[in-house]
Amino acid sequence: MTGDPAEMIAALIDGKGEGRYGLSDINQGAHALQAAWLAERSGCGAALIVAALLHDVGHMVHDLGENPAAEGVDDRHEQVGYDFLRDYFGPEVTEPVRLHVAAKRYLCAVEADYFARLSEDSVLSLSLQGGPMSEQEVEAFAALPHAVAAVQLRRFDEAAKVKGLVTPAVGHFVPYVRECVTQGWG
Ligand code: FE
Repeated sequence: MTGDPAEMIAALIDGKGEGRYGLSDINQGAHALQAAWLAERSGCGAALIVAALLHDVGHMVHDLGENPAAEGVDDRHEQVGYDFLRDYFGPEVTEPVRLHVAAKRYLCAVEADYFARLSEDSVLSLSLQGGPMSEQEVEAFAALPHAVAAVQLRRFDEAAKVKGLVTPAVGHFVPYVRECVTQGWG
């Protein structure tokens, strides 16, 4: 792909962000912006802000409809997103994205009340994604270099489903994207 990856990514959030977010009340674009905004307001660095903005980009670049989980399909959007993003970003952006579904399975295993706080769409997809992690899986996940960032991202993801919450537009986050882009120019 030619051109400026940051502009291309902004257009993706703006243009394809109209699908509803799973079963929740907000669209993909608003969900992405809310997640990025939560990361920024929590004092995260550029990489985690960009990871939050783009964690569900796999939903935007595949063609399985708005809520494949309702049809019993695990869209593996974290892997689709990772495969797309690694042309442009390093592991501090791509690993939390790749691991954000695993982070949900992890949190369901290690935090007693986490499952109870999941949104309806996250509960539905959890069973398709393998359910809460086993003890061995928890250990292996926690040892990964970007596990902490992935768990942080997961919390922003769950919190970024607020209908009517106003956030800055995507242009606000473009400088962070630009800062993190490592490849893909020209
Ligand atoms: Fe999400």
